[in-house]
Amino acid sequence: MSARIIDGKAIASALKVEIKQEVENLKSSGIIPGLATLLIGENPASHIYVKSKHRACQEVGIASFDHVLPADSKLEDVIGTVNKLNADRTVHAILVQLPLPPQIDVDSVLNAISPWKDVDGFHPANLGRLFAAKDLSELSNDKRVVPIPCTPQGMLVMLQKCGVTIAGKKAVVVGRSMIVGKPMAALLLACHATVTIAHSKTKDLEGCCRGADILVAAIGKIHMIHSGMVQEGAVVLDVGINRQPDGKITGDVDFDSVKEKAGWITPVPGGVGPMTIVMLLKNTVLLANSFLKR
Ligand code: NDP
Repeated sequence: MSARIIDGKAIASALKVEIKQEVENLKSSGIIPGLATLLIGENPASHIYVKSKHRACQEVGIASFDHVLPADSKLEDVIGTVNKLNADRTVHAILVQLPLPPQIDVDSVLNAISPWKDVDGFHPANLGRLFAAKDLSELSNDKRVVPIPCTPQGMLVMLQKCGVTIAGKKAVVVGRSMIVGKPMAALLLACHATVTIAHSKTKDLEGCCRGADILVAAIGKIHMIHSGMVQEGAVVLDVGINRQPDGKITGDVDFDSVKEKAGWITPVPGGVGPMTIVMLLKNTVLLANSFLKR
């Protein structure tokens, strides 16, 4: 039987309508949610990503501020700009576009962003809270708001929208980056899945993946996950964005074969990608809201 497709594009566009309404509500309380982006250097892909983030902000009425620094900037220049944005009351959310030029220490920059304005959720205080959470409810309540990294959060929303039960399930996350794999594993754990994180040194990766009820591929290798690695009926979430020799974008999962075995599957493009950008908007609204309450 063929898997049901998780249409990230459709879920994302429905969410944008809800976010637009939340922005309107905030505006009636006198707050225009504001996202500032900081881009260092000339990486063409980064410029495209930042542009699309500003466009998405415009669509829902979020104010966006574009800051660009030259590729040869010093760490002090970058931290200086971050500090100005930390102090700017019109900015509720700060995004530093990664990767950074080699002379800039990424940890120093991410640590400099106020945890209250950390739209990507990469500040150690926010990542620490995510890993410490025993339950999802601990991440957003009257006492505390923790921005959850956008790509993992997007995948969680997809699972919820499809009515997938996470508690008690075996989840395998292939990839252990700080922006996708690790926070996704923490999030699934906070949803009470039994989680395995696999990586390039994992022995018997195929057997490990076959044990998964929920399989997340965040590797960056074209079609590495094939149908022999997937359990019948599993939910397969493909984070990979890989460019093929013909220029087309494809995922880490061999979609055509895996869809014959999986229960649910995300396509690439049109799956996890569109969700990531909408979660950026959602986190901006969340941080603007918490600003209102402070
Ligand atoms: P990284 O390169 O930081 O991490 C890749 C991970 O995959 C590493 O943990 C690595 O293991 C693991 N890995 C590599 N080769 C193998 C292998 N042969 N077997 C098992 N594990 C392996 O990538 P990111 O997490 O940043 O991104 C992953 C993919 O997701 C990329 O294609 C990226 O473009 C895409 N992406 C998509 C987003 C979206 O919105 N859809 C957002 C962010 C990323 P080890 O740690 O041992 O090296």
